[in-house]
Amino acid sequence: LYDVLVVGGGPAGASAAIYAARKGIRTGIVAERFGGQVLDTMAIENFISVQATEGPKLVANLEQHVLNYDVELVQNQRAAQIKRNELIEIELESGAVLKSRSVILSTGARWREMNVPGEQAYKGRGVAYCPHCDGPLFKGKSVAVIGGGNSGIEAAIDLAGIVEHVTVLEFADSLRADEVLQRKARSLPNVKIIMNAMTTEVIGDGERVTGLEYQDRSSGDQHTLALAGVFVQIGLIPNTEWLEGSMELSQQGEVVINERGETSLPGVFAAGDMTTVPYKQIIIAMGAGSTAALSAFDYLIRESVE
Ligand code: FAD
Repeated sequence: LYDVLVVGGGPAGASAAIYAARKGIRTGIVAERFGGQVLDTMAIENFISVQATEGPKLVANLEQHVLNYDVELVQNQRAAQIKRNELIEIELESGAVLKSRSVILSTGARWREMNVPGEQAYKGRGVAYCPHCDGPLFKGKSVAVIGGGNSGIEAAIDLAGIVEHVTVLEFADSLRADEVLQRKARSLPNVKIIMNAMTTEVIGDGERVTGLEYQDRSSGDQHTLALAGVFVQIGLIPNTEWLEGSMELSQQGEVVINERGETSLPGVFAAGDMTTVPYKQIIIAMGAGSTAALSAFDYLIRESVE
């Protein structure tokens, strides 16, 4: 039995666990993979106070910090269901059930991938998913943005201020982004938008991305673009499938939270990329994790006198 059980071991979960444990309450983390998305990240240059680090190094520091406290860390386990009886119960895919007086959800999110040859091989070596994170690494170079929705067009506008040239490739015959964003993007001299473009391959020299190939869906013609980077902006999927029906989710499937990190289920809090919090970043997830932990503590001290 835990006072606070954190589900998910990314930056949000690690931060929540440290804040909870520092209150002297029984704290546990159950996670499929401690570190989360940070494990897949190469250069991190926006973790404030650390000028530059690498994902695996930051994860090692996170783990050390967590284990410095009395936190029980259960790894390689996936949560499958949440139930609220007298206690909150997390059922794992293994069938085991963990019980806690309060729960902090932080199962993160994953970028939708293009699933074309070269994408996996050049991930972090030219294939990128986060313009706030990796944009400055492509200063003065040419990049493509895949996807013409709001996040794609926002990324193109953002990158246009940093890189030499941006080509937006949209699969459909029109952009889905808000009109005002489209107008802004079209007004920029170094942004080109190509419609009906199906990316078929990311190409590279074995070390880094050197370009991509796409098919013009109206003519069937194959084209090659020379590029240093490919920003894939076709959606961020919250890892919340296992929560459907048990609490309020947004249209995008994010757990709806308020400014205290409370979900619609009493005693259950959430933080990080899986929630409705705007902007998905390490430092934001960590801040949200600490908010959720302090709210859980507040909840527990009120609940215990009933
Ligand atoms: P995550 O990091 O996604 O962690 C989720 C955790 O939950 C993991 O431990 C996972 O195993 C676990 N989990 C998922 N489902 C279950 C389940 N059912 N049961 C149990 N456990 C589960 N941000 C920056 O600020 N700077 C950067 O430079 C940067 N670069 C990035 C580069 C890449 C390639 C990627 C993918 C992301 C990058 N980000 C960067 C974004 C940043 O990594 C995320 O915003 C951050 O990791 C979110 O933290 P989180 O704790 O909410 O979720």
